[in-house]
Amino acid sequence: MAFAGVAVWRLARSALSSLRRSPPCRRYSTPEHTTRKSVPYETTLKQEGGSSSPTKALPKTADVVVIGGGSLGCQTLYHLAKMGMTNVVLLERDRLTAGTTWHTAGLLWQLRPSDVEVELLAHTRQVVSADLEQETGLHTGWIQNGGLFIASNKQRLDEYKRLMSLGKVYGIESYVLSPAETKDLYPLMNVDDLYGTLYVPKDGTMDPAGTCTTLARASTARGAMVIENCPVTGIQVRTDDMSIKRVKAVETPYGTIETPCVVNCTGVWAEKLGQMAGVNVPLVAMHHAYVVTERIEGIQNMPNVRDHDASVYLRLQGDALSVGGYEPNPIFWDEVSDKFAFSLFDLDWDVFMQHIEGAVNRVPALERTGIKSTVCGPESFTADHKPLMGEAPEVRGFFLGCGFNSCSLLALAWDKMLYLS
Ligand SMILES: Cc1cc2nc3c(=O)[nH]c(=O)nc-3n(C[C@H](O)[C@H](O)[C@H](O)COP(=O)(O)OP(=O)(O)OC[C@H]3O[C@@H](n4cnc5c(N)ncnc54)[C@H](O)[C@@H]3O)c2cc1C
Repeated sequence: MAFAGVAVWRLARSALSSLRRSPPCRRYSTPEHTTRKSVPYETTLKQEGGSSSPTKALPKTADVVVIGGGSLGCQTLYHLAKMGMTNVVLLERDRLTAGTTWHTAGLLWQLRPSDVEVELLAHTRQVVSADLEQETGLHTGWIQNGGLFIASNKQRLDEYKRLMSLGKVYGIESYVLSPAETKDLYPLMNVDDLYGTLYVPKDGTMDPAGTCTTLARASTARGAMVIENCPVTGIQVRTDDMSIKRVKAVETPYGTIETPCVVNCTGVWAEKLGQMAGVNVPLVAMHHAYVVTERIEGIQNMPNVRDHDASVYLRLQGDALSVGGYEPNPIFWDEVSDKFAFSLFDLDWDVFMQHIEGAVNRVPALERTGIKSTVCGPESFTADHKPLMGEAPEVRGFFLGCGFNSCSLLALAWDKMLYLS
């Protein structure tokens, strides 16, 4: 749906004052969702009218069953296969990417305030921008247009200087730019209120369909198996002679796979999967959204922008921008639906409007630009904003790869992170 651009941005700004009077936390669920394709990508892996039976016969046993075929499941399968494990199966309820991954903005910022995440992100970038293409001959859709963090106060600039130092340890190239240097790099940016910026030239954007297809291709070439249209409906757990609970099998409507090890990569559905095994998965599902603008003259080839103080991001989308952000009053998705595949929520403008002022302040051309489409989907968040990775304490062999707080395009480099039991 196209919106009258100026009207929407102005309407948004005029509504800001009433929004500021809103309660700090909005908590309600919206069961209705749409399945229209308004994501900015040329391809998604959705198949209209496809068969709903499993795409392959289920094996009787597997060394590892990866559950969920989004970014994390595909990354996990690929890394397990690369470690030399061949009897590994990925089960996806619908088609690959059907959950959150298909509509992600795909931004990859390499610098984050945690050395583990920095290392994983650098590894992810290496896999997506180079390794996969070398291995399969397929381009994943990686676009390296750089990333720019905005500091509009001294504390933020100090934080970015520390990030630059951290990045140096891991070989990540970055530069602190003055406002004038930032203007040279990004002429459409308002730099009047800036202390400086942190520029990371090798940041970029991943394409979800291209990345997951290539990961699946590389994994199956190494002997792993991907089975779509196959929901997991139960996890069998046994108690061994030492009274330790261990994963025994994975149940589906099409048969049971005996396995000592599962990896729960089911995104916002991970809590439900955990319940099947008696494992607590402490994450919450929330709506997260961005809007895609009409064409902006002069925006081509600009880096992606993250303004942490305004809590917005501006992602280059060809000759337009995707504008998204994180709200202090997010919408929680309390009733996580199993029927949600290649689906989106209707955008709640009352919640999203708070991002408009920050976005227009940073790139004033936005005020004169229309909005082409809106993308609002589910994403999982954790209390400390850190992902849930590793073996669950309750059940041996039940691993988590979820709760990535909008940073989940991370590769799960199991060879570095975990020792599978
Ligand atoms: C609007 C939006 C923009 C975003 N932008 C960015 C961004 O710029 N950068 C970034 O890093 N992150 C971003 N994110 C977050 C990122 O997209 C997600 O964190 C990531 O895609 C989640 O991947 P996943 O594999 O964990 O989950 P999903 O993609 O949701 O995959 C989980 C899969 O599990 C399947 N499943 C569920 N239950 C079962 C079952 N019982 N049996 C079998 N399969 C099952 C589902 O069908 C689904 O395909 C964004 C999120 C949103 C909503």
